[in-house]
Amino acid sequence: MGEVVRRLPFCGAYEKKIGNTVFIPESPVTFVHPIILTTVLSLWKPPMKNLVILGAGTAGTMMLNKLHAMLDSSQWQITIVDQFETHYYQPGFLFIPFGIYSRKDVVKPKRDFFPAGAKVVSAEIDRIEAEENRVLLKNNVVLNYDLLIVATGAKINPDETEGMKDGLWYKNIFDFYTIEGACALADFFRRWEGGKLVLNVAEMPIKCPVAPLEFVFLADWWFTERGIRDKVDIHYVTPLPGAFTKPRASGILGDFLDKKNIHLTPDFSIARVENEERKIVSWDETEIPFDVLVTIPTNMGDEMVERSGLGDELRFIPTNKQTLQSEAHENIFVIGDATNLPSSKAGSVAHFQADILTENILSWMEGRPLRAQFDGHANCFIESGFGKGILIDFNYDTEPLPGKFPLPGVGPFSLLEETEMNHYGKIMFRWMYWNFLLRGKELPIESHMSMAGKRM
Ligand SMILES: Cc1cc2nc3c(=O)[nH]c(=O)nc-3n(C[C@H](O)[C@H](O)[C@H](O)COP(=O)(O)OP(=O)(O)OC[C@H]3O[C@@H](n4cnc5c(N)ncnc54)[C@H](O)[C@@H]3O)c2cc1C
Repeated sequence: MGEVVRRLPFCGAYEKKIGNTVFIPESPVTFVHPIILTTVLSLWKPPMKNLVILGAGTAGTMMLNKLHAMLDSSQWQITIVDQFETHYYQPGFLFIPFGIYSRKDVVKPKRDFFPAGAKVVSAEIDRIEAEENRVLLKNNVVLNYDLLIVATGAKINPDETEGMKDGLWYKNIFDFYTIEGACALADFFRRWEGGKLVLNVAEMPIKCPVAPLEFVFLADWWFTERGIRDKVDIHYVTPLPGAFTKPRASGILGDFLDKKNIHLTPDFSIARVENEERKIVSWDETEIPFDVLVTIPTNMGDEMVERSGLGDELRFIPTNKQTLQSEAHENIFVIGDATNLPSSKAGSVAHFQADILTENILSWMEGRPLRAQFDGHANCFIESGFGKGILIDFNYDTEPLPGKFPLPGVGPFSLLEETEMNHYGKIMFRWMYWNFLLRGKELPIESHMSMAGKRM
């Protein structure tokens, strides 16, 4: 019906005139020629989605490597953001004050660990605008995301304790949780003739909760080697009720402190440092004098978390302890030290979490329930000095137990026992870290803790 005005290009439909009115077909697709339709459909691609990873430290780099290998690059664009170009092997900081490692042993360029073709943005993150699904960078660039992984870690905040960064900072007060602190302490120890060495943990949680213990064990060994152990009085001062967070291991590690003549002061909650009198003072006014103070200052998440309104009072992000999904936003996942989980803040933990998170991210992308569950698995070698170490393996529900690891009855590592093999495990960890862990490769240790080889 009606007079044909013209044939519409490409779609095979006709514009028609009825009276003075020209009718254009409402939906040209209805009239599309089948061959054209098939061609168009075969060429059509769904819009690319954006997965953004914030932080290219231990956890972020692992996630990038794992997901880059698994996701279809025509469907998901992965972008990773970090402010620094250098990757620090933080477990190595422990060895620097004792001259075992130097700076060059713990740094590599981050780019060495990124897969070819990864989109890397080198910039400081200003904040996440979670309601808008976007991240603002300090250089004014905006990154939109469909899915976000936050892996911005934790860092020390000495300013949280009154007087900590006054006159004696890096003169008689040091940290070893930063490369600067570890190197400054190495310089100091080379010249130090002895006195009262106080190690103080300001508050929990901290990264690698065994690192302060390892520090005093190594100090005992190092000053013995230098022949001045009788001139160095070592004190371990902690807010915990004992040497460690878990009661059974705490008893055993407390015995090690005794054996090594290291004095333990538990339940000490630091209020301030008095620089002139060289003492730390607790909230209940207990005073502990020092000649050198090695502090593990308050550990907190990055300021970006606070600016984004996503953190708790220590800027850690409330995270589901099993699925690793943010408690507040279903398209944000959190991994590593940035979470508020009750698991240890450790590289080994981030590694176990990465397996779980990868599985849950794939489920999320396909709209399936998040079935993979993180059990809080942690596995830590504790360097105990004189070429020996102790190993602990535990999770949310099971505290460290004695036994053999990973093979029942065989080991080669011994749980909650001091052995040379455990020391080699610790030393090997650096090689494993650079070559396997960061690159997202499989390690011969299950993500979930196993009871095999453990004695109740
Ligand atoms: C002294 C010491 C000893 C340790 N020993 C051990 C050990 O023996 N075994 C073990 O398993 N673990 C150990 N750890 C802990 C381990 O190093 C950390 O748990 C691990 O690195 C955490 O990884 P992460 O990715 O969560 O954080 P990180 O590796 O710290 O990475 C966070 C990244 O986010 C980036 N970032 C943060 N905020 C921003 C921002 N606003 N803009 C841009 N980028 C940002 C940072 O630059 C950094 O690259 C130790 C740590 C220390 C300090």
